[in-house]
Amino acid sequence: MQTRRIFLKTLLGLGASLLPWSVFPARMGEFLKSELGHPPAILQLPETEIKVKGETTESLKRTAMDDIIALTAPEMQGRKAGSVGEAKAAEYLTSQLSLLGLKPMGTPEAGFAQAFTIYPVIETKVNGRLTFRPGQSKDLRIPSANILGGLMGENEHEMILISAHYDHLGVFEGHVYPGANDNASGVGCILDVIRQILSEGKTPKRSIVIAFWSAEEMGFVGSQAFVNSPPFPLRQIKAVLNADTVGNGSKGDFALWGDGENIAVKAIQQAAGQYGATAPITPPGGHNSDSVSFASAGIPAVTLMTRDWLDKNHTPEDTPAILKPEQIHLASEIIYQALHSLAF
Ligand SMILES: [Zn+2]
Repeated sequence: MQTRRIFLKTLLGLGASLLPWSVFPARMGEFLKSELGHPPAILQLPETEIKVKGETTESLKRTAMDDIIALTAPEMQGRKAGSVGEAKAAEYLTSQLSLLGLKPMGTPEAGFAQAFTIYPVIETKVNGRLTFRPGQSKDLRIPSANILGGLMGENEHEMILISAHYDHLGVFEGHVYPGANDNASGVGCILDVIRQILSEGKTPKRSIVIAFWSAEEMGFVGSQAFVNSPPFPLRQIKAVLNADTVGNGSKGDFALWGDGENIAVKAIQQAAGQYGATAPITPPGGHNSDSVSFASAGIPAVTLMTRDWLDKNHTPEDTPAILKPEQIHLASEIIYQALHSLAF
């Protein structure tokens, strides 16, 4: 096993969530504090050199279930945005994108990470589901980060974005909320798509950006921070394919959030048809996912999920045991085909 040394500037922003304020060198602490309240933040921490074990060929052989097991491990603590668990998940994703040889697409100083800040939140239960509502203080802000990598195509200025949120709800009343379906399944699905494309070794016509959002559970905060302050011009994004909670239900029984006329929805529905799957548009009914941040900016966007996505959703029972690997694989095939039609 080869040990590759890479500079993980990723932990920019995340370093702040790993350590209490008091242990920061005074100068850095002052800088961080001055940046808070002005999201998205550019948090300049020193370069953190960490060792990532493995090599590209090895990481190409990984599967969505490998990613899901990693992201739901006890040390990830339910991946609440702004927590140590989120930082560990971000580190895992950064190492995967790096080993796959993708281009860091975060803020220039930050490598794969795009740092932003979140307001404090309060846990609340609605119909047995744990969710967040805004906390009292509007002053204190907590660092969080999206993780972004790119596969450059012949045209570097036209991009198709494939994405999934990697955060979840954390720990509440002594229970870990592992978020295996919501949304480790979507993250594994998107990693499978890019692994398949890289295995084929073909250069796409348009560039492909892989985005893992954080703070989705707090109201699409990560994807909104991206739209508010994109690391490249937003108009370069031609379509967004987002996966959220794709691992349960009857095989091929999917649903979509998006508007019926957009090219992202059409590409997914056409691909689903090729695999004998169904993916009708459903009314959000008070729910939604990160595609909404792009839709409101006028970019064609869609979220793919299973029709039974609410089953065990936002409960401690959302573990890898409830997942169906063949359903996640099918979701990957559909997104792969849709991406193929849009980017190749
Ligand atoms: Zn959720």
